[in-house]
Amino acid sequence: MNTRSFTISYPAAGPGNTDIFFHDSIYIPEDSPCTLTVTDEHIADLYKAGLFKIQDEGTLVLPAGEKYKTPEMLGRILEAALDRGLGRDGVFTGFGGGVICDMTAFAASVYMRGAGLELVPTTLLAMVDAAVGGKTACDFGGAKNAVGTFYPASKLHICPAFIDTLPEAEYRSGLAEAVKTAMLYDPELFSLFRREKAAVLARDRAVLGGIIRRCVELKAQVVEEDFTEKGRRMELNLGHTFAHALESAVGLGEITHGEAVAWGIARALDLGMLKGITSPGWAEEAKTLLAEYGWCTLPQHPRMPHPAAGKLPPGSAPQTSLRFMKSDKKQRGGAVRFVLQREAAVTEILPAEDSEVLEVLK
Ligand code: ADP
Ligand code: ZN
Repeated sequence: MNTRSFTISYPAAGPGNTDIFFHDSIYIPEDSPCTLTVTDEHIADLYKAGLFKIQDEGTLVLPAGEKYKTPEMLGRILEAALDRGLGRDGVFTGFGGGVICDMTAFAASVYMRGAGLELVPTTLLAMVDAAVGGKTACDFGGAKNAVGTFYPASKLHICPAFIDTLPEAEYRSGLAEAVKTAMLYDPELFSLFRREKAAVLARDRAVLGGIIRRCVELKAQVVEEDFTEKGRRMELNLGHTFAHALESAVGLGEITHGEAVAWGIARALDLGMLKGITSPGWAEEAKTLLAEYGWCTLPQHPRMPHPAAGKLPPGSAPQTSLRFMKSDKKQRGGAVRFVLQREAAVTEILPAEDSEVLEVLK
């Protein structure tokens, strides 16, 4: 198998390195008595259909989806590790999308105060974002990723070949995070999204492989510098304060994360313009690209519970969003802070008044 690799180190955090391997074909974790592979039922079905093979022995199959990113599933992973007799030197392997990778990593981080961890992300979103950088989580009390740890995997295997079977909505969800990374750090990657739109949407392996590798490298640089998100890593939350509000308002798992992020980025661009920070030219260019890829960039997202559906009092959708933002764990003090851009690859984090936030949701 042809692989190329590089290493992320975490000088500020000290918990060791992540060796990242890029594979031209699908990588299957090895089975041994001291490993536990965690996956979900959709991936297990692909395997049963003969698309690829995972080991029966030592593989825990969980139900799929954000709905199951729960402490109960975390408990099931820990129980399976105990049943298998894993010690502290055992290795947990998350083999799946962001949900599986985040939960398996969480379980590894607390099992006997920290066991081995490898990740094999199988969604685009997990490859370019969730599996890179050591954040672990499960949802709690209706709040997304409310509990978790920082615990990087020792090995991360990236195989773009997994993307062939990804449902369209999941594929597009990952694309939104990749576009976000391009907006934050790489104008050349941003123009590639424009230039190669047809190839990107057709999941051209060469084009996509290049995009994934670049996103992983860029995110790796940021997390090396700021592992525990005290500073620069917060930039990666571009669009996310608005996105989390939309995801919570619609119901966790009812809209893809990337769909919400793309809309959130458009709101952040509008907020930046309202505050006189974002150049109108950049806001226009970025929103045009988001719209060309089919994402909603208008203030009222069609999935936001709407007064017309009888779920909210008339005119209250913006206030509802704001309430969700105020409960976002990333806020400091009273004012909600937003990641805003001056222009391509120039980013700032600033508080905004409620009135300003409401203005860009009207
Ligand atoms: P994300 O990676 O977006 O955080 P999930 O872990 O919930 O989210 O994965 C999204 C969905 O895609 C799940 O239903 C999962 O079972 C499915 N899935 C993951 N990887 C693949 C794949 N390579 N092919 C087809 N479906 C997949
Ligand atoms: Zn995200």
